[in-house]
Amino acid sequence: MTIPPTIPLGRPTVGEPELAAVAAVFASGWLAGAGPTCRRFEARFANLTGTAHALATSNCGSALFLGLRALGVGPGDEVVVADYTFPATGHAVLQSGATPVFADVRPDSFCADPAAIEAAIGPRTVGILVVDLAGQPGDFDAYRAIADRHGLWLFEDAACAAGATYRTRPAGSLADLAAFSFHGRKGITAGEGGALVSDNAVLIERARKTHSYGVAPAFGRGEDVPVFDELGYNFRLSDVQAAILGAQLDRLPSLLAARRSVAKRYTEAFRELDAVEVPAELPDREHPWQSYLLLLAPELDRGRVLAGLRARGIGCTFGTYASHLQPVYGRQRPLPVSADAFRRHLAIPMHAELTEEQADRVIDAVRGAVDA
Ligand SMILES: *Cc1c(COP(=O)(O)O)cnc(C)c1O
Repeated sequence: MTIPPTIPLGRPTVGEPELAAVAAVFASGWLAGAGPTCRRFEARFANLTGTAHALATSNCGSALFLGLRALGVGPGDEVVVADYTFPATGHAVLQSGATPVFADVRPDSFCADPAAIEAAIGPRTVGILVVDLAGQPGDFDAYRAIADRHGLWLFEDAACAAGATYRTRPAGSLADLAAFSFHGRKGITAGEGGALVSDNAVLIERARKTHSYGVAPAFGRGEDVPVFDELGYNFRLSDVQAAILGAQLDRLPSLLAARRSVAKRYTEAFRELDAVEVPAELPDREHPWQSYLLLLAPELDRGRVLAGLRARGIGCTFGTYASHLQPVYGRQRPLPVSADAFRRHLAIPMHAELTEEQADRVIDAVRGAVDA
């Protein structure tokens, strides 16, 4: 039997427009980070996310860390963190010196459960860090009400959410601060990259200083010799990457439409299968479909399903992580919904290059693999 070529789990859409944008940066002579191309990208990204200010960063993890630093988070503080996520979310809290207190997620959206957030708040809590799961925003009106009631800030890990909306408001504008990722598996990418956005100019300017070794970045700084009065880091995005992201922003509507049409095709087919639950699309949101996660029936052995799919040439993996089960965070309370999703979720190919024929091959392969 010949195995057909593998359909990859993810695949960036990059080509001539990105190459042309990179050529323009080469010609300009400014390739370093936080330069003119970054500034142009920041203005466009703030506009996309419905915020007043954006800072381009080396990745989403650094954007999260910079945001927490700008908020003044440090040792002795506790931050309530959505449990079901890539551990960059919890890591940023540890990096700031504070303690993450994980909150369980809703069994449909797998975004933070407002009741669980409320229960995790204690006397040391300074803020709430929620995650747009696979890019889909959670219950932001409820999150905001809780934050306001307890006098806490609200931070959105919008790593996967470029182009998503909640009640017509764009992802990024739903909290006091939001962090995005432009890693190769996200909806728009420069290979690596990130952004921090906010309406609060003070927070973004604090983060801008910290992201450039604690002084104003060279572009636009003026002639005075800078003074280093605080510890900073190099978390800049290079102008080469910012150029790529400019071209990706031009494509974003068509990339989102392509992902949405794959998701629709999958959901129509998988709804008929008893062995899987399709991802919930919550009302009043636009889901950007960074990934497509099927919840396998509890009796299925996910390892066997993954192996069956791979044998059929289908790229696949688990969903994301139950943070509280990662040893780096030490002993944590059990969080059953997140733990169950960590065990049962299956990610299947989702990207803007998938053809209808390939999506149908994935559908047939999943039918076969869950039956085996
Ligand atoms: C991808 C991802 C991150 C990390 O992004 P980097 O750009 O790799 O730092 C953080 N949070 C979530 C929810 C993610 O999906």
